[in-house]
Amino acid sequence: MTTFSNEVESLNPFEIVQKQIDVAAAYLKLPAYVTDILKKPKRVLTVSIPVKMDDGTTRVFEGYRSQHNDAIGPGKGGIRFHPDVTIDEVKALSMWMSFKCGVVGLPYSGGKGGVIVDPRTLSKGELERLSRGYMEAIADFIGPDKDIPAPDVYTTAQIMGWMMDTYSRLKGVNTPGVITGKPLILGGSLGRNEATAQGCVYTILAALKELGRSPSGATVAVQGFGNAGRIAARLLTEQGCKVVAVSDSSGGIYDTNGLDMNKVYDLKDNGKLAQYGAQYVISNGDLLELDVDILVPAALENVITRHNAANVKAKIIAEAANGPTTPDADIILKEKGILVIPDILANAGGVTVSYFEWVQNLANFYWSEEEVLEKLEKRMHSSYDAVRALASEHDTDLRTAAFMISIKRINEAMVARGWV
Ligand code: NAD
Repeated sequence: MTTFSNEVESLNPFEIVQKQIDVAAAYLKLPAYVTDILKKPKRVLTVSIPVKMDDGTTRVFEGYRSQHNDAIGPGKGGIRFHPDVTIDEVKALSMWMSFKCGVVGLPYSGGKGGVIVDPRTLSKGELERLSRGYMEAIADFIGPDKDIPAPDVYTTAQIMGWMMDTYSRLKGVNTPGVITGKPLILGGSLGRNEATAQGCVYTILAALKELGRSPSGATVAVQGFGNAGRIAARLLTEQGCKVVAVSDSSGGIYDTNGLDMNKVYDLKDNGKLAQYGAQYVISNGDLLELDVDILVPAALENVITRHNAANVKAKIIAEAANGPTTPDADIILKEKGILVIPDILANAGGVTVSYFEWVQNLANFYWSEEEVLEKLEKRMHSSYDAVRALASEHDTDLRTAAFMISIKRINEAMVARGWV
């Protein structure tokens, strides 16, 4: 088995996903050319987007769209607006999307987009012009049968709505199936907003059951308080868990007795988390090392590394974020007996309901929220069980087993197409 403990740890997500592929492929004993194909995206587009700013000047933003491998079906994956976006990050995220779609059995390959921008510094008009400009620049590269974007960090349903409108106008055809995570009125799906967190919570409940634990009273720390983290905190509270710590980009708060979540939501919407009280303030780094039952990283990559993994005390780590744990950290967490629910399983609820949204758009027939949630729960539970069973069979961790399931599936599609 491939291990990395003696190597210098890379924090480049593109190199990290390549290592994860190597670890899983070693179990599958596939020819090297298969992993050579999987270790790079098939296509990557770089775009330059001029945007008229409110002050009359023009700023030029750089963006990307990466398509990993289209053996299984069209690409699928979000668009990130963040100042730290890099082409390697977008490539890695598109690859994780392929493996994520494989774990939950969706007829998609991976795609991902990103723009280097801090959208919090833009006015609403500037944000709309940037969103439409990015879509105009990638429109010929994507499509409902080619590659279907969705929201990710700092992009919203409103942004998806603008982008769908721009694509539809360019093509002269109303095309809701080109993008998911849209507002309901434009063909969005009921349940999509909560889907990533809801799927994550289903996997946490399965993990608790595996450990013989009840959700009631289980303590939770959540890093990142956006679509994934905030809703996961709410849903876990509804399950009887006690959320003791949360954070966002400005830092975190911690109360060993459990946070007053209504106060937390109010502060997040109308103030700053730190206003909860000076004695409760902690750093994002400290949050990861709290003695809790469940840790939910729900922000960005590379937060659990070989530098802090030994200090992590959680019993379960549910990776709502993509790529929060490095391969070196994975080894340490495994040695400590921490149950890591890997990103490509834990946050697959988002793309699963995006798939449901796309199916509804193509059929022009819309489902009830109950129907969406029932289908999501079934798929998350069966995927967790399949990953668990394979991990036990090979005496390995859930991440490696999840990658094995997907790699096997993509390889089968490539063989059936005659590519290899
Ligand atoms: P979001 O924009 O809604 O929220 C991001 C949150 O992270 C915000 O609260 C922000 O303050 C916080 N944050 C940003 N930088 C931080 C830092 N350095 N430290 C701590 N917190 C920080 O984004 P989201 O959609 O919730 O995405 C979060 C993660 O979940 C990402 O890794 C994303 O790829 C992943 N994810 C999202 C979806 C989805 O459907 N939205 C699906 C699958 C995976």
